[in-house]
Amino acid sequence: TVSDLLRHTCERLPDHPAAVFRAQNIRWTYSDLLREVDRLAQGLLNLGIGKGDRVGIWSPNRAEWLLTQFATARIGAILVCINPAYRRAELEFALNKVGCSALITARRFKSSDYTAMLTELAPELATATPGDLHADRLPHLRSIVVLGGDIAPGMLSFDTICRAAPRADLNALGKALDPQDVINIQFTSGTTGSPKGASLTHHNIVNNARFVTDAMEFTENDRLCIPVPFYHCFGMVMGTLGCVTKGATIVVPGEGFDPHDTLAAVSAEHCTALFGVPTMFVNELALPKFDTYDLSHLRTGIMAGAPCPIEVMRQVQARMNMHNVTIAYGMTETSPVSFQSNVDDPLEQRVASVGRIHPHVEVRIVDDSGKTVPVGTQGELLTHGYSVMKGYWGEEEQTAQSIDADGWMHTGDLATLDVNGYCTITGRVKDMILRGGENIYPREIEEFLYTHPGVAQAQVFGIPDDTLGEIVCAWIVRRDGATVSSEDIRQFCRDNIAHYKVPAHVSFRKELPMTVTGKPQKFIMRDQMLEELA
Ligand code: ATP
Ligand code: MG
Repeated sequence: TVSDLLRHTCERLPDHPAAVFRAQNIRWTYSDLLREVDRLAQGLLNLGIGKGDRVGIWSPNRAEWLLTQFATARIGAILVCINPAYRRAELEFALNKVGCSALITARRFKSSDYTAMLTELAPELATATPGDLHADRLPHLRSIVVLGGDIAPGMLSFDTICRAAPRADLNALGKALDPQDVINIQFTSGTTGSPKGASLTHHNIVNNARFVTDAMEFTENDRLCIPVPFYHCFGMVMGTLGCVTKGATIVVPGEGFDPHDTLAAVSAEHCTALFGVPTMFVNELALPKFDTYDLSHLRTGIMAGAPCPIEVMRQVQARMNMHNVTIAYGMTETSPVSFQSNVDDPLEQRVASVGRIHPHVEVRIVDDSGKTVPVGTQGELLTHGYSVMKGYWGEEEQTAQSIDADGWMHTGDLATLDVNGYCTITGRVKDMILRGGENIYPREIEEFLYTHPGVAQAQVFGIPDDTLGEIVCAWIVRRDGATVSSEDIRQFCRDNIAHYKVPAHVSFRKELPMTVTGKPQKFIMRDQMLEELA
């Protein structure tokens, strides 16, 4: 269980650095971490929270997030990760969907005032006894625990609940937990529709964290910089839990992503590893003072979460000193990783594929009729094994649509496998463009656009067209100082790729719409493009 794992590591390496939160000026050893986690765990027990209860966390990357992650695991409560970008209606949906009885929340993040939104949602707070809320719109929620000093009426202070007198022997409590219990409800990014809450067990995530860090050859001497959000499995399973698995050190540059803060943290903290979604690396590489950061301690890291352009991987490998950078592919529903390149894979494979299948996971690639396709042929990727979630919380029908009767997860992603088992993700089933009878895979055109020297970021998608069914559009962010025009791009395409793949519309943007987890939101691009063309 997550509880046992934390205890083992803390007992093995009590004085070893566990976590650094630079924005909060916090440095914890593993024994500090266990002490702080257990104080919070006792505080939660004191609020009446126990095994199987859902506890929401709504906060950017702060130290208290880490404590909540492990304190809930110590008492067998289910951690519900809530997107820091959510607004009132989305928060209400998430809390009610899974019936959270407690919410731990930051006061604010960026322009969002979390406590104000909560007060609007639950005006009953004004007269409620803290810890005993009864609100019409949040019927399950009893306690709201706020990080930091002063708090709003009806809410509890995080610091105060951590001072509660100890109630239980947490190690004994930990022994009574079952690895097959759900420990985490993790929402998908909502790239293709509404986010879905995946129920993950101790067994799912403890093992995945282990295999992810094995592939990077992590030891307790590694120091991992985590600029990706904790609320997503990239941050909390591959990141924080991964570090605890190996006794490595968690380094958190700030509450949200900032390219300078990230590389400054890598420099100052001598990080050996760095995580990021592709756009984060693109932004770091584009920093004007890139050459002034000390990246000499970096050796590995992971790029994941969205298609990783070969060109960007090459640059990360060469310019960021990350000789052993790996790519991982996964999804929330599979805890998350199922493919990952390995530090000893040849570089060509490491930059151009998502590596080979993880231990104890099986893979099939199938055609529309569900038949396995030959090596090298594209189809839908199916995965099977310990990492597949229990299901979507409270959504049996949706679960049955994704996980078939034999336990295979239908990923909705298109992929090919080569003879050596290296996998290439070629797109999402839902992203495929159908133009005049031709199937077009946006990923292929995106990869090509990245080879143009004026292009920093590129996204390709289809929009409806009366004659052809769909036509190809490209949104591009220029490299700093580049003056490339839309006609230049189209000419570049005409000279190099088949005519039907040449984008009919090329539009330049300052930035591209992304989810908090760094996934391009093509439905927004599509809608906006249609509006602009109308
Ligand atoms: P939703 O399921 O709500 O539409 P989502 O699928 O984006 O959102 P996540 O579970 O966060 O939510 O993301 C998993 C998806 O991210 C995968 O299905 C895949 O499409 C994409 N992905 C992850 N890693 C990679 C990668 N290395 N290369 C290409 N795509 C990737
Ligand atoms: Mg998905």
